[in-house]
Amino acid sequence: MKPIIVAIDGYSSCGKSTIAKALAKYAGYTYVDTGAMYRAVALYAFRLLGDEAIRREAVIPILTNIHIGFIQAADGQHVTLNGEDVESQIRTLEIGNLASQISTIKEVRAFLVAQQQAMGEKKGIVMDGRDIGTVVFPQAELKLFLTASPEVRAERRFKELEAKGEKPVLEEVLADVNDRDYRDTHRAESPLRQAEDAVVVDNSEMTREEQMAKIVEIFDRATR
Ligand code: C5P
Repeated sequence: MKPIIVAIDGYSSCGKSTIAKALAKYAGYTYVDTGAMYRAVALYAFRLLGDEAIRREAVIPILTNIHIGFIQAADGQHVTLNGEDVESQIRTLEIGNLASQISTIKEVRAFLVAQQQAMGEKKGIVMDGRDIGTVVFPQAELKLFLTASPEVRAERRFKELEAKGEKPVLEEVLADVNDRDYRDTHRAESPLRQAEDAVVVDNSEMTREEQMAKIVEIFDRATR
């Protein structure tokens, strides 16, 4: 069976990475979390530039100093920034927000998309993000578009943050989900949208197991 490219897109906090990881494991494919790459750029920019980190003119020149990688840690894949494991530092609400702002910069997208395309050259990859089926791999053999209601996503994100020891406020998390959705779908550069040939999976009412069963079925059909 020839390896394929699986592109998974969708809104923030709709469980893309959980399902993408599980599918990669099932298929024996490499998993690439492109959101982590935008977050790593945001972290680097924030450390160097502070509040200037969202200014296009300030961010463009620093891109060449950013080297992003992935390593396998005991608890799963971690992202590295210039060799440093920054997995926990990129997962905060603040860096997520900054990543969403920085990802509107055309040059940042071009910088990361080129690396993502190189990672998919040999196929056998599951990549998740916002523009994978539309921009990074428009030729992907399988495209999935995940959705869930903003309330369900805010609830899930709230629990994740709590589990990490943060003290989130549900209304704030929901406002953040809505802000991010708006920015992701309205930006000029590669806005989040469903590819015409994507299979849509709304997981608002599904358990993780139900969703996985559905996605495995779709994958098996695509690779048969
Ligand atoms: O998926 P995650 O929440 O980790 O992504 C962080 C931010 O990076 C998103 O809010 C989104 O704006 C941006 N992003 C993007 N394109 C991708 C992946 C993420 O613009 N392919």
